[in-house]
Amino acid sequence: MNVTSAPLALDWNSRAESLAIDGRAWIDGRRAAAGGDGASHPTVSPVDGRVLAELSSCGTDDVDRAVAAARRAFPSWSRKGAEGRKSVLLALASLMEQHAEELALLETLDSGKPILQATTVDVPGAISTLRWYAEAIDKQSGELPAVPAGATALVTREPLGVVAAIVPWNYPLEIAVWKLAPALAAGNTLVLKPAEQTSLSVLRLAELAAEAGVPDGVLNVVTGSGRVVGAALAHHMDVDALAFTGSTAVSRTLLEASGRSNLKRLSLEAGGKSSNLVFADTADLPLAAAKAAFGAYYNQGQVCSANSRILVQRQVHDEFAELLAQAAAGYAPADPLSGAEGNGALISSAHTDGVERWISRGRAEGEVLFGGERRTISGSDAYLEPTLLGGLPGDHDVHREEIFGPVAVLHPFDTEEEAVRLANATDYGLAASVWTSDLSRAHRVAGELLAGTVSVNTVDALGNTTPFGGFKQSGFGRDLSLHAFDNYTAPKTTWIQFG
Ligand code: NAD
Repeated sequence: MNVTSAPLALDWNSRAESLAIDGRAWIDGRRAAAGGDGASHPTVSPVDGRVLAELSSCGTDDVDRAVAAARRAFPSWSRKGAEGRKSVLLALASLMEQHAEELALLETLDSGKPILQATTVDVPGAISTLRWYAEAIDKQSGELPAVPAGATALVTREPLGVVAAIVPWNYPLEIAVWKLAPALAAGNTLVLKPAEQTSLSVLRLAELAAEAGVPDGVLNVVTGSGRVVGAALAHHMDVDALAFTGSTAVSRTLLEASGRSNLKRLSLEAGGKSSNLVFADTADLPLAAAKAAFGAYYNQGQVCSANSRILVQRQVHDEFAELLAQAAAGYAPADPLSGAEGNGALISSAHTDGVERWISRGRAEGEVLFGGERRTISGSDAYLEPTLLGGLPGDHDVHREEIFGPVAVLHPFDTEEEAVRLANATDYGLAASVWTSDLSRAHRVAGELLAGTVSVNTVDALGNTTPFGGFKQSGFGRDLSLHAFDNYTAPKTTWIQFG
């Protein structure tokens, strides 16, 4: 993720009050009439419970209209050429920059994340990813494979057509851009379905896209429930590919829907339960603890690749636990609009209830080593202290299931073999981290960990140039890097015979 310096202190609360928010879906280059049948529902901020906007509750008719608009727009967008699409997408990136504060504010109000992070990480990250793909697309070239004399074969990468993208609420703008940037740059058109909790930043993005010159129908945003809108996209006979980030449970339904409809191509970024392995030979234990706190608690722990299982070699276990407690204090919840460091609100009060149930289980069956308390800030009770559980067996549910909140579990290990076995003992395989000053061990352990990304002497490393995605039930397909083009293009062979 791209990080920029913190903005000047602003009165975000008064800015929020004067912000005009439009929650209507975006279909074929204009705001839809509040869902085909006019249905809408209020969207509420977890920051303080304020109603932000009336969101279109799209139905299957709206999905059909959006897909039809994307289909109509496909021929001219795909034939516009890489340079043409690049200049439009770069214009969108510049407009996002001009509206960065507004986008960040929408992101914070919708998701509860601190404005400090939305302004310095989420929005700059989305802009940099968009630019990266816009710049990458006109540097791609095809292949001329060896074929028998008298013939020539060209292998080109072709866009697939209409792509649907279904995204979650933890990084609403960034993850949407991870999908839309490579999909649009490669010449596809898109129907984007944001999470029902966090639709506002991508709706504004679609408006900015039109201003930047993205033609009508190329980018559509349909809001509403996963059960209706998401399922309609998944079953649609005229959607060629579906890119998803969300839970493993929903991923299963998408595979089934593809099989039952038109075999649309899927890329699935599903859940995770990632481990952070700290060996006693770690050169800088305080740094390892600081990064472990980041890996477990950043974004309120609502990160698919959160390093929420912290496995520490017994010799340094107690010292590490103390250092981690100190570092976790930096993730105490505060008003997300205050501009302060620390954590914000979880996505909703109901989600916080679910995370709290895990803490209660940890308390009953093991112990709470620090944190564990829920807080009410600005009238919202969606705030939780960073929490560490311990004293639980290595195969306990807490070690295997995703909590998606600021709750980590600490566990000692004795040998390298035991650490790897514990780390791999989940159904997920998204990410892992290793702390050691022994280079041979770093390579050996990284090689044995079943994870899409292994970070050595850091946690959760990520960037535009490197693929991100999972093994096992964390899904398949990769976001970010040139590999993401594989989700949105197919190789085409043109064989020309001369003799
Ligand atoms: P979710 O799977 O419930 O929802 C994700 C999206 O799918 C939302 O837009 C939702 O409306 C939609 N959806 C829900 N039911 C659907 C259905 N039946 N058909 C089609 N679409 C449907 O996940 P969430 O609670 O929004 O997000 C949390 C999950 O996302 C966690 O499991 C987390 O690990 C995962 N996640 C993964 C990554 C990754 O890159 N691997 C990144 C972020 C989040």
